[in-house]
Order: sequence, then C-alpha cells, then structure tokens
Amino acid sequence: MLELLTDRFSKALERLRNTRKLTEKQLNDILRDIRMALLEADVDYDVVKTFLKRIRERALTEDLKNNLSPAESVLLTVYEELVKILGETKEDLKKGTVLFVGLQGTGKTTTVGKLAYYLKGKGFKVALTSTDVRRPAAILQLQRLAERVEVPYYSAEGEEDPVKIAQIAVKRAKDEGVDYLLLDTAGRLHIDEELMEELRRIKETVNPSEILYVADAMQGQEALRAAKTFHETVGLTGVVLTKMDGDARGGVALSVREALGVPIKFMGVGEKLEDIEPFYPDRVAQRILGLGDIQSLVERAQQVIPEDEAQALAVRIMKGEFDLEDMLKQIRFVLNMGPLDKIIGMLPGLGQYAKHLKLDEKLLKRKEAIILSMTKEERKNPAIINLSRKQRIARGSGTTVSEVNKLLKEYEEARKLIRKLKNAKGPLGIPRIPF
Ligand code: GDP
Repeated sequence: MLELLTDRFSKALERLRNTRKLTEKQLNDILRDIRMALLEADVDYDVVKTFLKRIRERALTEDLKNNLSPAESVLLTVYEELVKILGETKEDLKKGTVLFVGLQGTGKTTTVGKLAYYLKGKGFKVALTSTDVRRPAAILQLQRLAERVEVPYYSAEGEEDPVKIAQIAVKRAKDEGVDYLLLDTAGRLHIDEELMEELRRIKETVNPSEILYVADAMQGQEALRAAKTFHETVGLTGVVLTKMDGDARGGVALSVREALGVPIKFMGVGEKLEDIEPFYPDRVAQRILGLGDIQSLVERAQQVIPEDEAQALAVRIMKGEFDLEDMLKQIRFVLNMGPLDKIIGMLPGLGQYAKHLKLDEKLLKRKEAIILSMTKEERKNPAIINLSRKQRIARGSGTTVSEVNKLLKEYEEARKLIRKLKNAKGPLGIPRIPF
C-alpha cells in the first residue's frame, strides 16, 4: 500500500541529506520531485497545487525548527501538510443507522461485514440489513457475513420496497437497543436517477447518523467522480476506502478530503473480515514518508512482548549497552511479530524496502540457535569466544564456524552502531531503530 509515494518521497528528500542550508534551487528541485510523485500517484491536480504552495510558503518563511537540519525541517513540514490533506484527525463513527452507498463491485458488502466484525469486537451491539432487493445474491452475501460475524441480520420477508425494509429494520434496531444498524443499499454499475431517488427516500425516512461512501482505491480519480454525485444528492458524512492493499499509488486517499470535504473513516486492506483499519491521517502520513507506522508497530509489539521487557531493552539500547542476550531478544521479537515483510514496512526508513525485502525467517532461526548454544558468560562477554568455543557452538547449533563468525561480526557492528546512535534522535523525535 502506498509504496509508490514512499519510494518517490524518500528519493526527493534524499537530496537534502548532509545539507546545512536550504537553497532556493534545492527547494525547487524537491518541490518538482514531489509534484511529479503526486501526479504519478494520481492525486487530484488541485490538491497537488495547494499542497505544493503551502510547503513552499512554509519552507521559505518559517525559521528552522529547533535543532533540526534543513532535511528534517522540510520533512516535518511535508509531514504536517500531508496529515492536513489526509484529514488531520481520526474520525469516529456516530452511533445509529449507518447507510453504505456506492457503486457495485467496490467492496461495499464486504465492508459492511468487516465493520460489523470490527464494531462487535469493540463491544458494540450491531445488526445488519440490506435494501438491495434487485440483487438477491447481494442480500444472501450479507446474510452469510452476518452469520460469520454472529450478529443479527434483519430481514423483511416478502417486502419489496427498499424504503419499507429500511423502516422495519430501524424500528427493530431501536426496540433491541442496537448501537449500530449497518444498512447496505443497492449498488448499480452506473449512477441513475432511480437509484438516487431511492437513496433520498431512504435517507428521509430513517434519518441516518452516517452516510458512508464506499470507494475502491484502485479505481483512482474515477472513484471520486461518482462520489461527488452521491455527495450532492444525499450528503455524505464519510468515505471508506477499500482495496488499499492493492493500491500502490494512493491518489484517492490523498484527494478525498480536499475533493469532497468529508473524512476517510476506514480503510480496507484485504479480503478477510479483520482486514479493516480506522483511518489515522498521521499514521498514513508517516508511512508515506517512510517514517514507519510507529504506533501500529508498538501496538503489535505489545501483543508479543511484555511492556516491561521491551522498556528494559530500550533503556539498555539507549545507554549503548547491548550484548548477545539482547540480540537474542531482538531476534525472537522479530520472529514473534509475524509476517516479516509487513513489519519491515512499519519500521522507520525501511518502508520503501518492504516490497523487495523478504527477511529470511530460516536464517533468523539459525542465528537464534547459535546464540542459544552459547553459555551465559559468552553471551555477556563475547570477547572470550575463541576458536574452540566457536567450534563447540557451531556443533551445538548445527551450524558452521563461519556462520558463528558472521553472527559475531553482525553483533559487533550493531553494537558499534548503537553506541553511535546513543544520543542521536531521528526526525520528529523518533529514535532510529538500529538495524
Ligand atoms: P460490492 O458489489 O460493492 O458489494 O462488492 P463486494 O463486497 O462483493 O466485493 C467485491 C470484491 O472486492 C470481492 O472479491 C471482495 O473480496 C473484494 N474486496 C473488498 N474489499 C477489499 C479490500 O479491502 N481488499 C481487497 N484486496 N479486496 C477487497
């Protein structure tokens, strides 16, 4: 997701590495690169113009921020402006009846199922219904999803009028104290007046708390043209962007807010029920800039290592203390976090490599075995590991002396790097992760 922008932005900002003072020419070069990146990513033309204008103004008028290099200063400005066009803050979903509107094939029905799963997981009472009477298959699909998520599906047997179906479901939701009634509406291949009239009537009758437009990120700007018509007719309160996992460009994500004036509330990142995430503008901006999605990484990390252990490791690293015992912890930490390429994408500075870099789990397991074959003393003080110890370790771990040597060399390099980084902070105060 968003790999294209991550790649292009990191190349553009690379120009500023080692720069002491930002010249006008450098700024122009960077802005030109960013402009091309955004247009290539299919971002709305007006959005690109506004974005560049704001960055130019700020870069020229604002003083360098405390202790930041020109590179970090421009990076911070770009970051803040990206967060702005992505919508500033994460927006919650108002309780009540949530209408899902949009065209067929965008992932609308799947999204209703995913959101039911998500909201139920948060402890809310959820029910589903569909008014897509012309497509019995779509209704069946939603009924199946309701069964899988184990939430009620409200059907109105024999009722053919979408407005009546909606009315019956809303009444039942009220009676049963439901927090969110998720209501899937008809999807057509094209916008037509009949569909819009039907939506207008449903809206008037049920007085929804939210009207969400489901847009397929892979359709690019086309997805937004239809959204505008829906917005003019029924007034949208938000957008759910589906298929973000398949969209390397990100043009729609960056254009929705400016083009429609409504927030993106959720994004779909795969076909499974759990593949939906609230849309956090700051996290997405960090990913785009290759700063990694630190918060998501931390949330994942907390699931696999206890916080006090992580804290202790972090403190030791900050102090520049790092022995093979710590390296073992790191290896296990990475092994436990699961799909490595997903994790790499969240690490600062490594996002752009996510797509080429498949860390080899087998290799990590061999490293783990090598450290496990060492005595406690050897792990604390690797300097004592002489040839005969190496031979013993290699035998014990089913590896070779040259593999043991390689691991010790890597350890030595990591230790040196950690010493060097002891006081260095990455951009935005995020400590750089040393591997
Ligand atoms: P609808 O006609 O708009 O209701 O579309 P469906 O919900 O039936 O989805 C159409 C196709 O898109 C299905 O194959 C879904 O599995 C797929 N799909 C939906 N959301 C996502 C997503 O976030 N990522 C991916 N990769 N596929 C999705």
